[in-house]
Amino acid sequence: MPLPSLPEDAVWQAADNPEIIEQVASLYRRLDAVVAADATMCHKCGRCCHFGEFGHRLFVTTVEVAYFLAGVGRHGLRGPQTDCCPYQQATRCTVRPWRPAACRIFSCESKQPDANDRPLDELRALHTSNCVPYAYVDWISCLNDLRTRRGV
Ligand code: SF4
Ligand code: SF4
Repeated sequence: MPLPSLPEDAVWQAADNPEIIEQVASLYRRLDAVVAADATMCHKCGRCCHFGEFGHRLFVTTVEVAYFLAGVGRHGLRGPQTDCCPYQQATRCTVRPWRPAACRIFSCESKQPDANDRPLDELRALHTSNCVPYAYVDWISCLNDLRTRRGV
């Protein structure tokens, strides 16, 4: 079955909408505060950004990609892509302020399998309230699609 694709026009429109970008920023601020207060700390080793090696995928929603693009711009799209996130350099995330929700939440030590549910519910609601088509897509495929279609 083909992977779901991103509604690209809607992504760029949302990226240009300061109200939507501020709503995502606000959600991320709250999310970061909750994660910072959590006892299960991330040691920032960067292993989980090597998706294939680590054995997981990173999925993102339409408004998360919009927020990311509002931060890095179309010239910030990177490639060629491998199974490691192209924004990792020497174990560090180079796009930390604009990284998706799952990058903020994920903990290899977490015992809570449903830790992603609440922010994802809020992200879903944010699409509805702003009439942005909801998509939940693989990060690497999404970056490849955006780069291919934009010719960057
Ligand atoms: S979540 Fe775990 S694997 Fe990922 S960077 Fe943090 S400590 Fe490393
Ligand atoms: S955006 Fe940053 S934290 Fe997220 S996978 Fe890429 S390098 Fe890792």
